[in-house]
Amino acid sequence: MLLKEKTAVVTGSENGIGKAIVSSFLENGAEVIGLDLQAEDGRVLGYEYRRADVSDMGACEDVISRIYAEHEKIDILVNCAGITRDAMTRKMTEEQFDEVVAVNLKGVWNVTRLVGPKMQAEHGGSIINISSVVGIYGNIGQVNYAATKAGVIGMTKTWAKEFALKDGNVRVNAVAPGYTLTDMLKTVPQELLDRFAGQTMLGRLAKPEEIAAAVLFLASDMSSYITGEVLNVNGGMRL
Ligand code: NAP
Repeated sequence: MLLKEKTAVVTGSENGIGKAIVSSFLENGAEVIGLDLQAEDGRVLGYEYRRADVSDMGACEDVISRIYAEHEKIDILVNCAGITRDAMTRKMTEEQFDEVVAVNLKGVWNVTRLVGPKMQAEHGGSIINISSVVGIYGNIGQVNYAATKAGVIGMTKTWAKEFALKDGNVRVNAVAPGYTLTDMLKTVPQELLDRFAGQTMLGRLAKPEEIAAAVLFLASDMSSYITGEVLNVNGGMRL
């Protein structure tokens, strides 16, 4: 029960890595509020769910203010919502570039700007941003995605400094997963997935639960002296 009496907000909660994070937080005693694009608000499977598009600043302001009206504080924020719109640079449209920036980069800012300063005023909190191995090494056909995932690391390091000011005591870290078996990979040909697995030291892709375990560590007091870091969870991958 590493997160007993903690309240956590997880974006992208209804699928893949976000879903695994929600399960692991619930198993560890947290009160969880999931934000995602699907379905209607409600309480499902032991946690609260709110429909919110993280790329929409007004929607974020609305949902976060409702959460603060109903909960004393938010102790943990995980920015996990993310999308891909892959294409080689010569073929990538402006729309593909802008969509990925809107969700993966601005979406992280839209939510964190509302939660981070409040955590700082409360003198405590942990924020975990989901980056990617692609944000560190780059990847063919993913210039938009790589830019956002590298940008998330810049935001993480900046917020680790900002939200620690005035005894803020807010830790901000990133997790950079390698290729993880979720819907995000469903359009990637098996041959390419096999090649990615071959590029890891462990010879396989990640399970969402393995990424969630790293997020749990950073969310909990087990990591109480870790901030401004990027935790690579990629099986020893070098792209
Ligand atoms: P996923 O299975 O596609 O789940 C992403 C979730 O985010 C979905 O439920 C999706 O909803 C939601 N979402 C998308 N746009 C949103 C928006 N504007 N507002 C709120 N929610 C939104 O992907 P995943 O693999 O779990 O990825 C989770 C995070 O890990 C992402 O940030 C991704 O970049 C990162 N990551 C993934 C991998 C990988 O190999 N899978 C590797 C490194 C990093 P819909 O289903 O309705 O679109």
